[in-house]
Amino acid sequence: ATPTAILVGTGVGAERGLLIKGGEVLERVHRLTTVVFDKTGTLTTGLAHVSDCIPLRQGQESISSTQHLLQLAAAVESGNAHPLATAIQQAAQQHNLSPLAAQDFYMEPGLGVSAQVAGHNNVLLGNQEWLVQHSVVIDEAAQQISQSLTSNGKTVVYVAVDNQLVGLIALTDTLRADAKATVDKLRQIGLQVAILTGDRQEVAEVIALQLGIDSQDIFANVRPDEKAAAISQLQSQRHLVAMVGDGINDTPALSQADVGIALKTGTDVAMETAEIVLMRDSLTDVVVAIELSRATFNKIR
Ligand code: ADP
Ligand code: MG
Repeated sequence: ATPTAILVGTGVGAERGLLIKGGEVLERVHRLTTVVFDKTGTLTTGLAHVSDCIPLRQGQESISSTQHLLQLAAAVESGNAHPLATAIQQAAQQHNLSPLAAQDFYMEPGLGVSAQVAGHNNVLLGNQEWLVQHSVVIDEAAQQISQSLTSNGKTVVYVAVDNQLVGLIALTDTLRADAKATVDKLRQIGLQVAILTGDRQEVAEVIALQLGIDSQDIFANVRPDEKAAAISQLQSQRHLVAMVGDGINDTPALSQADVGIALKTGTDVAMETAEIVLMRDSLTDVVVAIELSRATFNKIR
C-alpha cells in the first residue's frame, strides 16, 4: 500500500469511529490471527447487578442482615469505577441504604478493594485470592455457596471485616448485544477468538457458551500482571494477537498484544495504551478495523 492509501485507510477508520494510532498499526491489523477479549466490560456490558447478598456468621463479626452487608460493601466501593463497584453502589442506593463513612480506600486491580469503614474498622471486598492474601479463612460452607453461585455464571465477591468473612455478594452481568455477532464474524473471516478474564473459569464458561467459544480458549482467573503473559503465550505459538479490553487491569495485556484495542467507555489508561480506540463503543468495530486493514493492504483472504 502507498503512504496515501494508508492515510486514506486511517481516515476512513476515523470516519467510522475507529481511532487508529498510525498507519503502522493499521498495517499490523490485517496480519492478526487471534482476537482475545477481556470479559467484564468488554464482552459484557459491565452494567452488572447484584443478584444475591448473603450474610454469613463467622467468628465474632457477624453481619445482621443482607441490608447491612450491602451497606458495608457499598461503603468500601464508594468512588470506585469498577463495574462490580458501580453495581454494588447502585444496589445500596436502590435499597435506600444510608451511606456509611469510610476512608483509606485501597484498590488492587483484578483482586479487590479495602477501606476503613466507620464502626467496622478494616473491610475487605474482592475475589477469593484477595481475601486469602489477607489470611481470611473461607470455610467449607462459604465455599459451597460460592460454588453454586459461580456455576450459575454469577461473579462472587467476598466481604470480610477485620479479616473475618462476613458475607458473599453475587453479581450478574449481561453480554453486549453485539458480542455474538462479532465473535461469529471474526471466525467467519478466519480469526481465532479467546476470552481473558480475572474472573473464575465457571463464570467465563457461561459467557463462552453463549458465544460458542470453546472452553479451551478461556484464560480465567488471570491477574492483571499475568494477563500479559497469557498474550505472550499465544504469541509464542505464532499467533499474531489483538487484545480488546476496557480496564486498568487490561493495560499490560493491551501493550503486550500485537494490537491493543480499547473501548471508548473504558478507563483512560486503557485508551492511552491501546493503539486502536473504538470510539463508538461497538464491539463489531473490531471486525470493521480488520476489514479496513485488509482492504488497505489488499489482502483479502
Ligand atoms: P475482568 O478481567 O473480567 O475484567 P477484573 O480483572 O477487573 O475482571 O477483576 C477480576 C476479579 O477481581 C473480579 O471478578 C472480582 O472478583 C475482583 N475485583 C476486582 N475489582 C473489584 C472491585 N472493585 N470490587 C470487588 N471485586 C473486585
Ligand atoms: Mg474489564
